[in-house]
Amino acid sequence: MIPSRLLEKWWLRAFIALVVFFIWQICYAINRVQGLEEEKTVLQATIEVLKRKSDVLRTEIHEKERALTRLDGRIEEIDTQIRDHISLLPRVNRSTPYIYFITPTHFRAAQKADLTRLSYTLSHVPNLHWIVVEDSDKLTSSVAEILKSSRLPYTHLNARTPKDQKMKYTDPNWTLPRGVEQRNSALLWIRNQLAGVRSGVVYFGDDDNTYDLKVFGEMRKVQKAGVWPVGIVGGMFVETPILAKNDQGRSIIDFNAVWKRERPFPIDMAAFAVNITLILQNPNAMFSFDVPRGYQESTFLEKVGIHRYNMEPLAEKCSKVYVWHTRTEKSKLSKDLIEKLTKKTGFNQLEADALGVEF
Ligand code: UDP
Ligand code: MN
Repeated sequence: MIPSRLLEKWWLRAFIALVVFFIWQICYAINRVQGLEEEKTVLQATIEVLKRKSDVLRTEIHEKERALTRLDGRIEEIDTQIRDHISLLPRVNRSTPYIYFITPTHFRAAQKADLTRLSYTLSHVPNLHWIVVEDSDKLTSSVAEILKSSRLPYTHLNARTPKDQKMKYTDPNWTLPRGVEQRNSALLWIRNQLAGVRSGVVYFGDDDNTYDLKVFGEMRKVQKAGVWPVGIVGGMFVETPILAKNDQGRSIIDFNAVWKRERPFPIDMAAFAVNITLILQNPNAMFSFDVPRGYQESTFLEKVGIHRYNMEPLAEKCSKVYVWHTRTEKSKLSKDLIEKLTKKTGFNQLEADALGVEF
């Protein structure tokens, strides 16, 4: 114990008070540090828990994303199934026969442009099923996209022209028959899928022609095989059947064609449509690489059992032109660009979009 006399000295009292104060301060600080340590441990534990939670959530998000992708795929599938079913349903409205519009199409600089334009024409036509056959090894997404956006019932196929029958980019463009393999593939599809269909009309509509909407109304009138004038074709302003003057324009007596006019049917592919029943009843009616140039139409029509003078003249007794054999000018391209086009590579993103190729 501190002797009481010493305590009487003021400085000593002050000193002791100071020491006590410091000891108290140190105790307080120690206490505080201990408190903080505990807090730190608690926080670390919380962080761990949160981390684990975030991992779990991340996994969940990932799984949900995968499920979403699966559902997207399923929706596409169902979409396609619905579309196919609708297009194959028996045609209830017999007053408006279905048109099966067969379009062969091949890759070139203007393919996307031509098909886009055609899709906008066809999207105005009710009861039309668009059968597009690509001259390619596989279906391309650009064509698929055009078909989907058209909101038409459609069938998307591909059939490659054999190499020895295929024109090169630099070939003059009138040497080999075009669209043979593709039209046959569409005919096969019709025979397989539409065997039970009793009404409808089949038309071969190239991707670069120009169609007045009125031509579709004419097609629906076809009993067996209908024919009408075609503008800008065969070196003429119009190729047309010539009708007898005296029997209300019901019978064809000749054709005005100048190019190979000796052909059984001196007309263009765009000039006629045939009833689907003729296609179904004559499975041998196909196109062929082995027929003389310009005889595709004639051979086909003979095989479906039609006679040139038995065709039904349409388009106001063949006095109107509702379809033109227009041709999109081949783009003038440098060697470098032709090579890109032939190899289908080396495009920048915008070019790829313009031409309808994958980037
Ligand atoms: N076509 C095709 N593969 C080819 C060339 C043409 O599928 O190698 C298609 C083309 O897209 C068109 C049809 O066949 O829909 C007729 O071809 P094109 O328009 O070039 O012939 P033309 O105008 O001379 O009748
Ligand atoms: Mn053409």
